[in-house]
Amino acid sequence: MTEIRCIDCKKVLGKIPEGTQVEIEIKCPKCKTTHTYKFEAQEAQVN
Ligand SMILES: [Zn+2]
Repeated sequence: MTEIRCIDCKKVLGKIPEGTQVEIEIKCPKCKTTHTYKFEAQEAQVN
């Protein structure tokens, strides 16, 4: 699992499975920082 951490205070806001492609906006309950977190599916690119 990949931890979603607040960009400001580093509080763990949630967890998502590895390789999940998602874009979510989360407001940190601790420091009130709102940020859109983007996670992209990590695919090995072989060229
Ligand atoms: Zn925070």
